[in-house]
Amino acid sequence: MPRPKHSRPELEAVLKDAERQGWRVDGGGNSYFKMTCPCSEKHIKMVHLTPNKNYTKRLLRWLERRTCWENES
Ligand SMILES: [Zn+2]
Repeated sequence: MPRPKHSRPELEAVLKDAERQGWRVDGGGNSYFKMTCPCSEKHIKMVHLTPNKNYTKRLLRWLERRTCWENES
């Protein structure tokens, strides 16, 4: 079964980006999605369903600090 989409387009884009890079994305049913990194450090990041205003920016900043995350462009 495919995972449910995030209701916020900008966060759905982050989840898609993660999946493209081999991260596993679980959940979405309750209060968050769980992103698991494919690298040996197994980075885990929870992505909330109802985040506040600066959430996406902070999430992207966190991801950019992970060496295993590739930035677009
Ligand atoms: Zn990682």
